[in-house]
Amino acid sequence: MDKLKMAIQKSGRLYEDSIKLLKDCSIEINIGIDKLKTTALNFPLEILFLRDDDIPQYLEDGVADIGIVGKNVLLEKRKKIKIKETLGFGKCRLSIAIPKTFKYKNIKNLYGKKIATSYPFLVKKFFEEKYIEAEIHEISGAVEIAPGIGLADCICDLVSSGSTLFMNGLKEVETILESEAVLASNLHLDKDQLIIMNKLLFRIRAVKKAKNNKYILLNVPNERLKKIISYLPGITSPVILPLANSKCSSVHSVVNENDFWGIVENLKTIGAQDILVLPIEKIIL
Ligand code: ATP
Ligand code: ZN
Repeated sequence: MDKLKMAIQKSGRLYEDSIKLLKDCSIEINIGIDKLKTTALNFPLEILFLRDDDIPQYLEDGVADIGIVGKNVLLEKRKKIKIKETLGFGKCRLSIAIPKTFKYKNIKNLYGKKIATSYPFLVKKFFEEKYIEAEIHEISGAVEIAPGIGLADCICDLVSSGSTLFMNGLKEVETILESEAVLASNLHLDKDQLIIMNKLLFRIRAVKKAKNNKYILLNVPNERLKKIISYLPGITSPVILPLANSKCSSVHSVVNENDFWGIVENLKTIGAQDILVLPIEKIIL
């Protein structure tokens, strides 16, 4: 079987998490010194290390079959490729930011303003949808310094914590797009390539599911068992095991990260004791 060619960012914000995702999927790779490409040791995958901006084009052309790239880059480049899975890392937003001294009430205040960005297509679309004319000035990097040097009135750039904006005397006023890393693919994969991609997606989904859930163990007096179980969803139904102390049972379940604290507080209030919470490596349903 041929190998599937997967593009990931050569260095930058998506690199570490992309490598970690492969590792969590039990795919072993040795990264050589030149870091142009490498072959997985135990999975039919060849990894190509590229600049993130080039990945959509390589995917459309079939130079790479699948790739990890930010949704922001993918939507800006508008290549004929398909998103297969969101990956839950590289989270950020594409936002408009203005100098702190700019008096801003609403988006109409941006009428006729000069906006520096590396995302001209997405910014143009945003303003067109709002019927606001603005002048878009495309620059490829260090967008946040543009207002300070008189190049633009405001900017549209990627933000995660907001500290870069703050350091440059800017404040975020509108969000154009919420972004995260996605796995995208070429549109014309053959049967063998689809088989490998689906095997990889199967593993990625198991890892993602595990990350969003916790394994929880608690001891419960038997008379409270029924009530406690009503608070525990579990994947199918909670496991109940007897304890040496015959008046109590051990209850095991899986709880979604988002509901976790609410559930634990309820359990404690109604009599659960010795609550243990463990990470889960993979969930295969
Ligand atoms: P390359 O050298 O590959 O072109 P780059 O400098 O364009 O790298 P990075 O800054 O490494 O790109 O960002 C890669 C991706 O990480 C972004 O396209 C975005 O999807 C994501 N990302 C997450 N948080 C941020 C952030 N605060 N700023 C910029 N990108 C972010
Ligand atoms: Zn880039």
